[in-house]
Amino acid sequence: MCYFMKNVVCLAFTYLLYFSFHSAFSQAPLTENKLPVFRIVLDPGHGGKDSVTRSDGYQEKHIVLGIAMEVRNYLEESGFEVIMTRETDEFISLPARAAFKGDIFISLHTNTVADTIGESVRSMIKGMEIYTDKSMETVELLNRSKVLASAFRIHLAGLQGVKMRGVRQKPLAVLNKNQSPAILIELGFISNKDDLAYLTNPDNYKEIAKAIVNAVKAYQLEFTP
Ligand SMILES: [Zn+2]
Repeated sequence: MCYFMKNVVCLAFTYLLYFSFHSAFSQAPLTENKLPVFRIVLDPGHGGKDSVTRSDGYQEKHIVLGIAMEVRNYLEESGFEVIMTRETDEFISLPARAAFKGDIFISLHTNTVADTIGESVRSMIKGMEIYTDKSMETVELLNRSKVLASAFRIHLAGLQGVKMRGVRQKPLAVLNKNQSPAILIELGFISNKDDLAYLTNPDNYKEIAKAIVNAVKAYQLEFTP
């Protein structure tokens, strides 16, 4: 009897040792893998039949898609998951765009003023703007969207070559139908020569992408316990 008990205790001890080692060495990487992926929805505005075309031939839908692709690559290299609402020149309705769900939603656009406005005035209207919509479905979505806009304002303001005009509010279906904290960025005025040159030069896209990655990281930190 005594011998049997000794064996049981010994067996239990061996199992205990095995599981301690197992959890100490095998589970560490598992815990790492369990970190939640941060998912970003990138929404290049317009596409297909929906196009803002200037008389000089530049089209907003092509400019924002080119920038979004570079931003997507850099976000993915930085460990984020990215979902694009479109990757080609196709039409997607605003409700369909807003239905994409992520941890955050970023819509990319460029601004313009009418061709009829004289060059002297157009030369003065330039820079980036960030939009939120106060009619989000919940207070939390609105508050998080404001924090997101603030992080983007700070980091995009550091870009050389395009100025930051600030954060504004207006009713936008792609934002207020969203189930994620959401902002819309007007990356500059393609009706302005300086902004147009900046936004159509792919050499600048990496800097825009870096600023966006830093803004997303700053937003994440705001909600890290
Ligand atoms: Zn637009």
